[in-house]
Amino acid sequence: MNIVLATANPHKLKEFQQILAADNFSIVPLSAFPGCPDVVEDGDSFEENALKKARAICSHTGCVAMADDSGLEVDALNGAPGIYSARFAGEPRSDGRNIALLLERLHGAPPEQRGAQFRCVIAVVAPGGRELVVQGLCRGRITEAPVGSGGFGYDPVFLHEPSGRTFAELPAKEKNSLSHRGRAAAALRELLPEFLKSLQADG
Ligand code: IMP
Repeated sequence: MNIVLATANPHKLKEFQQILAADNFSIVPLSAFPGCPDVVEDGDSFEENALKKARAICSHTGCVAMADDSGLEVDALNGAPGIYSARFAGEPRSDGRNIALLLERLHGAPPEQRGAQFRCVIAVVAPGGRELVVQGLCRGRITEAPVGSGGFGYDPVFLHEPSGRTFAELPAKEKNSLSHRGRAAAALRELLPEFLKSLQADG
């Protein structure tokens, strides 16, 4: 079975294909369906945004659609940038400017005040209206300067303490196995077979 991934972000597509690779369905990119609507992420939570995207793409393609919404929640900033992670420093979106603004906001904060977590919510929506929502969290600490060149977004300033490395220093496979997206995808892998079975039962 094909599941359309509602994202234009090639990093996410690659990560999801890697994480869910072993299962008996394919993650198909949005680019396989020309003319898909641009969905405005104006919900108040990761869950609302993920559901909104998955519902729109499901209704446009007629296929089971999957969407994620994710971001960084910093303890000392009361959970900011949160759902605004991608556009924290405004438009045009820039990872570099987002990181610079984050480091500026945390300037002078000691390590114990630099706690943060990545959160990922994944929504799956089927044409008959069935919906499944899962989430994954990964705790870490914001570094004082960017370290490493891999990954994307806030990876260079997100220290994964058990490994002593930032997400930008971890090989993709290792990041995928412990990241918020990896954990959400693992939860999804558990629940998806039952969900897909229920669709067959619906006819
Ligand atoms: P989304 O594409 O609307 O989910 O926005 C997520 C934003 O959160 C991205 O643009 C990044 O800034 C940040 N983000 C989400 N996941 C990650 C990750 O795995 N590493 C680094 N930054 C991330």
